[in-house]
Amino acid sequence: MPRSKDELFNGRTVKVKYCDTCKFYRPLRCSHCSVCDNCVERFDHHCPWVGQCIGLRNYRYFFLFISSSALLCCFVFAMSALYIKFLTDDYGSIWKAMKASPVSVILMAYCFIFLWFVGGLTFFHLYLIGTNQTTYENFRNRREDSNRVYDRGLLNNFLEVFFTKVKPSINFHAYVQENELRPGTGLTPVGEADCLAGDRRAKVEDDREIGGDLLKISQRRDVEEA
Ligand SMILES: [Zn+2]
Ligand SMILES: [Zn+2]
Repeated sequence: MPRSKDELFNGRTVKVKYCDTCKFYRPLRCSHCSVCDNCVERFDHHCPWVGQCIGLRNYRYFFLFISSSALLCCFVFAMSALYIKFLTDDYGSIWKAMKASPVSVILMAYCFIFLWFVGGLTFFHLYLIGTNQTTYENFRNRREDSNRVYDRGLLNNFLEVFFTKVKPSINFHAYVQENELRPGTGLTPVGEADCLAGDRRAKVEDDREIGGDLLKISQRRDVEEA
């Protein structure tokens, strides 16, 4: 079986790869997440902060989350600065005002630091949405000129992300129960699919453990060398 095949999109050929874990040719813009152990449609990235993949069905909520966080940081920073200004007017010096409300100073520092993070992320994703790219495509195709395959113009790109109806999710790892296929046969539900699933899960666990051990060994070596 070929490892990849060419598919036509907007008159341009796009390579789609075969996923060994999920056993199918990935749809366009789909990628396999090793953490979630699943293929993810319109894969953007695996977000360790929210603990799941950002893809087709939650990208708009992810963007609303980071953009509203950035707005909140701006708001809290501005209100704290305004409060310090009022106190400065009352006390006559900014040092006395800061001493009178240390919480405002802490909030300003906190929001300032976090604004770089969430604000930067918001602007980066605004750029990505405007050009119809995912983070994954942007990082992978940085050197090539293949980033703009899905670009349909600024307005259409925004409409696609925020206002298109999204089909319900497909569970690529759903297992077929034998008694579901043949109702009334009186067979016990322990089918071949279940056994295979168990084997594969066990293998994934083993791989993870081996990976962890290798990491520990390399870390130990680093410590010894240092
Ligand atoms: Zn996969
Ligand atoms: Zn993931």
